[in-house]
Amino acid sequence: MLPNLPPEPAATPVPAGAPAPEWRAWTAAAALPAPLQPVSDPRLARAGVSLWLKRDDLIHPVVSGNKWRKLLPNLRAAHAAGQRRLLTFGGAYSHHLTAVAAAAAATGFASVGLVRGDELADAPRNPALARAERDGMTLAFLSRADYRRTLRELTEPATTRRLTERFGPAYLLPEGGSNALAARGAAELVTELAGQLPDLGPGDVVCCPVGSGGTLAGIAAALPPGAQALGVAVLRGGAGYLEAEITALHRAGWPGRTFDRWSVDHAHHGGGYGRIPAELAAFTDRFEAEHGLRLERRYVAKAVSCLYHRALRGDFPHGTRLTAVITGAPSDHD
Ligand SMILES: *Cc1c(COP(=O)(O)O)cnc(C)c1O
Repeated sequence: MLPNLPPEPAATPVPAGAPAPEWRAWTAAAALPAPLQPVSDPRLARAGVSLWLKRDDLIHPVVSGNKWRKLLPNLRAAHAAGQRRLLTFGGAYSHHLTAVAAAAAATGFASVGLVRGDELADAPRNPALARAERDGMTLAFLSRADYRRTLRELTEPATTRRLTERFGPAYLLPEGGSNALAARGAAELVTELAGQLPDLGPGDVVCCPVGSGGTLAGIAAALPPGAQALGVAVLRGGAGYLEAEITALHRAGWPGRTFDRWSVDHAHHGGGYGRIPAELAAFTDRFEAEHGLRLERRYVAKAVSCLYHRALRGDFPHGTRLTAVITGAPSDHD
């Protein structure tokens, strides 16, 4: 099952001589390559490893981090297909929903967000959903069963027809935005990294948090021989499922190729999405104080804390160079 690739869009061709798409201005605001910064920490030095931060959180003022990398190729595809609306899926606190709303608003697309949980329809909006609505996203709330079914059957014509009848023609993005194009967009960060660390290869571990897996899939596919990708699951109970999703993304994005130097750590989710246990909060506070950098907590803090925990218990061979991808910035609605 692979509800990852958007179905063939019902394209209305862009008229010749149409004004330059707004997303061109949007992409021009991107600061690439994202900086790579060393972290100097005696605890890590004693453990025999070095740590670098790939600052994807600095890419773009509106939508940064992996959301920028994953959305850009999809915006291009939506535009090329003549679509004017993006439709996607997420939980009530989904970063992906707010990112799609903001990107759509900035680039001239309408946006629709299908939210898991119909009990939320009449509840006061949480800050993330309020933010998405302020950016013009139309929200529709589905029962958990409907939500699951719609995602599972996303590539079936009947589903597309139903969504089109209700919301108008739209470019469909799966939950979390992880389709083959998104994974290929995320892979670009490794191309940048290889320019910043010319000897990237054996002895390197590139680490990112994992929600739906698109970012890790892209990193794993693009690393040069010998280098390893390590994803840190931020959701509880994803063992097996996430690996299957990532393998499916590899099959869809890099047909005929297989990648095996990647793994997902399922021991550092802290109890589930959005759960920040006291030790994780303490770790994050200390890291922020020592290194002068605020960490986004649902994802990034879990990945960085996992790297520290595993480095300090001796998981990485002496001399390993760790790169933590800072996949997003802290937001005011977390
Ligand atoms: C959405 C998000 C992720 C998850 O990325 P996936 O490609 O879905 O695994 C990671 N980090 C941050 C900061 C995010 O907002």
